[in-house]
Amino acid sequence: AKIQGRNTYCIFEEGMDAAVRKRRVLEADLSAAIEEEQFVLYLQPRLDLHSSGITGYEALIRWNHPKKGIIEPADFIPVAEQSARIVAIGEWVLKRACQMAVEQLGAARISVNVSPLQFRDRGFLDSVRTALEESGLKAARLEIEITENVLIEDDERALEILKALKKLGVGISLDDFGTGYSSLSYLSRFPFDSIKIDRSFVHSVSGSENVLAIVETIVRLGRALGMRIVAEGVETPEQLVLLQAEGCDEIQGYLVGRPQPLGSHATMLPDQVVE
Ligand code: C2E
Ligand code: CA
Ligand code: CA
Ligand code: CA
Repeated sequence: AKIQGRNTYCIFEEGMDAAVRKRRVLEADLSAAIEEEQFVLYLQPRLDLHSSGITGYEALIRWNHPKKGIIEPADFIPVAEQSARIVAIGEWVLKRACQMAVEQLGAARISVNVSPLQFRDRGFLDSVRTALEESGLKAARLEIEITENVLIEDDERALEILKALKKLGVGISLDDFGTGYSSLSYLSRFPFDSIKIDRSFVHSVSGSENVLAIVETIVRLGRALGMRIVAEGVETPEQLVLLQAEGCDEIQGYLVGRPQPLGSHATMLPDQVVE
C-alpha cells in the first residue's frame, strides 16, 4: 500500500508539472497571438421576440492558433486574465467588433464581453471611445456585457465606469444573471439596459416548475426596473415558447444560430430561424 501511495504521489507531481508547462507554453503563444492578431470574432445572433427579427449579435472570441487550430475562450481567457493580457485582447475585441458592426451588420447592435480586469483598467473608457471613433459606430449600437464579478470588488468605481459608459450612449448588459452573489441589490443600483438570464436556468426551464418560477420572477423584476430580458442558451422550440410566454424580450442560443465567423450569416434570416 505504501508503494502504491508513493506511485500515486509521483503521478500527481508529474501531472502538475505537465499542467504548469502547458500553461507556460500557452502564455508564450498568447503574446505572439496578440502581436500577430491570431484572434477571430465569431458572431451569435440575438432574436427579438417582439419583431421576430435579428436585432443584434454577440461577439465571441476564438483563437486561431497556427498549430492547434481554433481554441475556445474557456481555454485561454482565464490564462489571459491572470497574466493581464486580457486588457490588450479586450481592446482588440472592442475595435474589431465595432469595425465589423459598421462594415457588415447593417443596423444591428453588437454586444461585447468585457472581463473584470479589462473593465477596471484605467484605459478602458478610452478604449471604448477610441473604438467608436475609429470605426464611426454609433454608440447606441454597442453594448458591453459584464458579469456580477465586475461589480463585487469596488462598486463605487464600477458605478462610475458604468455611468460614464451610459453617458457615451453605450448599452450595458448584465451577463450570466442569477449565477453570482447579491444579484438583487446590483439590479437596483446599477444602470443596466438589459439582463441575460443564464443558460443554466434556460436549460431546465421546461423541466422544472421551480426554475420556471425563477425565470418568471427575473422577468417581472427586470421589467419593473425598465430592463430588457434576454434568455441565453436557448436550444429547443419548447424553451422558446415558454420564455416568450414569460415575457422575455430576446433570445440567444443554438436554436437561433451558433456563433459563426463573419460571412456565414446569410443563412440566418429571421423567417428561417423561427417557424
Ligand atoms: P458568455 O458570455 O456567457 O457567452 C455565451 C457562451 O454560450 C458562448 O460560449 C456561446 O458559444 C455559448 N452558447 C451560445 N448559445 C448556446 C446554446 O444554445 N447552448 C450552449 N450549450 N451554449 C451556447 P463561448 O463562445 O465558448 O464563450 C464562453 C465564454 O467566454 C463567454 O461566455 C464569455 O464569458 C467568454 N468570452 C467570449 N468571448 C469573449 C471576449 O471577447 N472577451 C472576454 N473577456 N470574454 C469572452
Ligand atoms: Ca456574454
Ligand atoms: Ca452569458
Ligand atoms: Ca458564461
